Amino acid sequence: MTAQRIGMVVAAGRGERFARDLPKAFATLGDEPLLVHSARAMAQACDRTVVVCAHGWTAPAERLLVAAGIDAQVCEGGVTRTDSVASGLSSCGACEPDDLVGVHDAARPLATPALIAAVFAAVDEGADAAAPGLPVVDTVKLVDEAASVVRTVDRRGLWTVQTPQVFRWPVLSRAYETVRGCVTDDLALVEQAGAKVRLVMGDPANIKVTYPWDLELAEALMRR
Ligand code: C5P
Repeated sequence: MTAQRIGMVVAAGRGERFARDLPKAFATLGDEPLLVHSARAMAQACDRTVVVCAHGWTAPAERLLVAAGIDAQVCEGGVTRTDSVASGLSSCGACEPDDLVGVHDAARPLATPALIAAVFAAVDEGADAAAPGLPVVDTVKLVDEAASVVRTVDRRGLWTVQTPQVFRWPVLSRAYETVRGCVTDDLALVEQAGAKVRLVMGDPANIKVTYPWDLELAEALMRR
């Protein structure tokens, strides 16, 4: 059987920093909610797609995805992002060792087909996992709890990491069998297990919508 690409879009966050009365993934960018933009991008790149939504939001998500013509399965997430990814993995059903899974934040609605393809390609070419990343451009300081500077960190070799993050199926599923607590980055889990992880050049426009004003920035980037 040929290897499958499975896309997972995690959209179950409450978006506390976003401060709206609905989950952030349902906020509108252009004419469509963030989760529709993100799910469309992953569905175009993958053989099947799972969208993970907060309790009480699976039915609205299903309606939106059907209306947008996106073929995706919807499941319920959990309290933390880690719980939501674990739930998405359980919903993926039977997978083969050669299958790849791409985990994408619904909060990054501007991931382009070229970027997603580059991340999958890095795993096809031999990595166990890959993600887009960007070299740090700001000066970085290590500070203590009172925000007093301890020292300046050499930024050479420091990258920030985006999604989608793509994994060989057994690498991610094994990491999630033993995960304890909550991580904000799935790559971190497989790094600890000794996986070969690669970064590909990310896209500065692949922003994460975190605060309300990020939507205005995303609107401008989308129009560009
Ligand atoms: O909160 P933050 O923006 O860091 O969340 C990153 C992504 O993880 C978002 O797309 C959010 O919907 C998702 N998430 C989730 N389940 C949670 C928390 C966050 O699917 N419990």
